[in-house]
Amino acid sequence: MGLGALALLLSILLGWAGSHPIPERKSFNKLLLISFDGFRWNYDQDVDTPNMDRLAREGVKAKYLTPPFVTMTSPSHFTIISGRWIEDHGVIHNMMFNTETGWKYSFKTTQNKTEWWDNGVLPLWITAQRQGRKTASFHYPGGGAKYQGEAVQRSLVESYTHPDSNETEWRENIDIVMNWFTQEDFDFVTLYYGEPDNVGHLFGPETERRRVIIQQIDRTIGYLVEAIERHGLTDHLNVIITSDHGMTTVKKKPNVTEILLTNYIKFSDLVKFHIVDYGGFGMILPKPGKEEILFQTLKNAHPHLHVYRKDEFPERFHYAKHERVLPILVYADSGYNINAQLIIYFNKGDHGFDNDLMDMKTIFRAFGPDFKKNYLAEPFDSIHIYPLMCKLLGITPEPHNGSLAITQEMLTDSSSQQPGEETLGSSVFRNTAIGLGTFVGILTVLFVIAVTYTAVQRKKK
Ligand SMILES: [Zn+2]
Repeated sequence: MGLGALALLLSILLGWAGSHPIPERKSFNKLLLISFDGFRWNYDQDVDTPNMDRLAREGVKAKYLTPPFVTMTSPSHFTIISGRWIEDHGVIHNMMFNTETGWKYSFKTTQNKTEWWDNGVLPLWITAQRQGRKTASFHYPGGGAKYQGEAVQRSLVESYTHPDSNETEWRENIDIVMNWFTQEDFDFVTLYYGEPDNVGHLFGPETERRRVIIQQIDRTIGYLVEAIERHGLTDHLNVIITSDHGMTTVKKKPNVTEILLTNYIKFSDLVKFHIVDYGGFGMILPKPGKEEILFQTLKNAHPHLHVYRKDEFPERFHYAKHERVLPILVYADSGYNINAQLIIYFNKGDHGFDNDLMDMKTIFRAFGPDFKKNYLAEPFDSIHIYPLMCKLLGITPEPHNGSLAITQEMLTDSSSQQPGEETLGSSVFRNTAIGLGTFVGILTVLFVIAVTYTAVQRKKK
């Protein structure tokens, strides 16, 4: 073989490498995250839930999910969407407050207050958007805020008068979300429902009213599966159904001695500001110089009340380090409300208690093209949902406290590859590398043939 022939082959191969485009393919499926507020882990066990049962067979079910402490709506939802402990993301309560003015803002008011949510930790919506994904939030807590100046591309915030349990509206919301996926090509959507939390508070978790709302949720999940099929999304959409905390029955007199702090301390002398009267968890800012006396007085005041200085709060809660947390923390045993100066509390069910309590555990279900079928996962912490979502969306995660190792066994492709490793850039690089490798290989073979040929010719001579 002459040098000319080799040059010709080389140019053909180079031409092939240059004109052969790397096929463009979305390497990830779409993702829908649904939260049903206050869905305790075992709510489906004393009522018929055929659709949830079917999903367990066709997807993944965790035995239960452990929410972060404090087991409250906004803090817990923001842990799911950021993969950070509450003391790191700073959304430490449902209420936003100002210790100087004494103002407290309700859960719904905070939904439009960026300053409450944007503490330097990026939720997945923003991270995904920065990596080219299209994201939306439908009523999900925190979805209405801006993060480092950036809003979620499509965001609907719950109005003050929004009904929690209108089944027709629940279905309409699913239709809207399906259209976002199919007509507008959204990649990641979070969808939030205020039930069964509302019913759990009003009537208590061990009631017929709660069982009825669980059946309504189950029908809605059936409608969701139907809508996914109708929109042709079955093979392209992963769905995670989860929640923020459980629910327990509130203990009241005469069955128990209720916790009323004014029985032990004089508020006007010792307390500058407090967040109490909000279930089984509270925080107190003492007046200057009064911290020690306040702590000592409350410490053994009630057998079901736990009192801590901020820097001594149990590490396992991953809660107290944030600067927003007030100097004295109080939490109660399961079902006890902490009341300040009056017992004005009328809830029959509540949450906010120790996340080790089974009544505070919640649900995790998942299905779709990337999830195994009929897979029962061991219990895990909700903080691990974030790296799982990043992996599903092909997103490089922000620094977080979760671990993909906990959840990757749920996936059909359970390789230990870190989420985001397979970005578009890296796959182009990899494909190019494969092409170059093949090219060099062929060249080597040609070289060996040429050398052998020449040697044989010489020998003949
Ligand atoms: Zn909640």
